Amino acid sequence: MKIQEYSLVLVCLLSVGNGCDRNTDYRKLHFDATLVDTHNDVVQRMLGGEDISVRTSHGHSDLPRLLEGGVDIEMFSIWVPPERVTRSYYDQANEQIDLIEGFVQRNSTQVGLARSSEEIERLLKEGKFVTMLGLEGGHPIDNDLKKLEHFYERGVRYMTLTWNNSTDWATSAKDETDPNLKLERKGLAEFGKQIVRRMNELGMMIDISHVGELTFWDVMKVTTKPVIASHSSVWTLCPHRRNLKDDQLKAIATNGGVVFINFNPGFIDSTYAAKEATMQEKYKARIDSLEKTVAADEFLRSQYVADLMKDEYFPIRPSLSTLIDHFDYVAKLIGVDHVGIGSDFDGIHVTPRDMDDVTHLPNITRELLKRGYSEDDVRKILGGNFLRVLREVEVH
Ligand SMILES: [Zn+2]
Repeated sequence: MKIQEYSLVLVCLLSVGNGCDRNTDYRKLHFDATLVDTHNDVVQRMLGGEDISVRTSHGHSDLPRLLEGGVDIEMFSIWVPPERVTRSYYDQANEQIDLIEGFVQRNSTQVGLARSSEEIERLLKEGKFVTMLGLEGGHPIDNDLKKLEHFYERGVRYMTLTWNNSTDWATSAKDETDPNLKLERKGLAEFGKQIVRRMNELGMMIDISHVGELTFWDVMKVTTKPVIASHSSVWTLCPHRRNLKDDQLKAIATNGGVVFINFNPGFIDSTYAAKEATMQEKYKARIDSLEKTVAADEFLRSQYVADLMKDEYFPIRPSLSTLIDHFDYVAKLIGVDHVGIGSDFDGIHVTPRDMDDVTHLPNITRELLKRGYSEDDVRKILGGNFLRVLREVEVH
């Protein structure tokens, strides 16, 4: 992003004393590298009527801030909460794609929608911000391969097989680990295997974030192409059902896939959930009264309340270093070729410290360099690994 580089030179010219060279190096690398984030839920805020073409005062992302954070390619998540049953999941997912297309068209001098690595390359050469689409949860395809193909045609380049809700053909991590739920079947059903094969044929990335372990292992037996985890972290560091165990990480490496690390405090810090519960209990009356006023939508409500309670949340937020530990762990266990960024910005209501929003992404580059990662390694983590896996999955 050229504008940032110029302003950086200016900052260095104006600054006095030591330290500027080191800072310049990490920012120079950060803005020179291609940065991809595989999971952002800002579409939910667009559904609430917000215009992300301009700087917004809350949440984690909008176009000006994405550019300021050095993001080159953002995969916007198309997510239909299963309890929103006003219209079919399929129609709702299509409406979200319409919204993103409208955003791209209105900002066409700055933004483009990419469906392939070739299109990414062209848009980046034109100096444009690249938007891509990921479908979170298989429920909008209505158990219909034709609808899967329809989403591919519209530009969807990964599908997370399940969200927290299972589909008829794949069980989620939430359902597989719920002791009160007596599932008749766990893992991937025969139709689920057909879906995986069809995604392989189409060149759509299979996203295993959110799926249960049994589904995961079934997928790994069927897929002929690398898989991704678009927004998951490390189970060994934080044993949450949404995270990946060491044997899963190793299997993803063998398969050539990539794990994109989720920034959710509850997924990166095993002490966070209890701290948050204690804090919410302490301020229960205030939270209850805020919840009545901020937003009708349940998803947006928790985000808006967290925004209004920044000071109360601050002491319990994990450090940036806790987040970097997850990148480091995956890189050390399975190699630097298999890790990337899947922030979940605007899908999580709290973030680690020094990672308040997308503008703080350069801090990741700084911390990785500090931990001894080479420039080439950092480039892979920031975006190179994504571009490789996309090229391997897409049909040429
Ligand atoms: Zn998710």
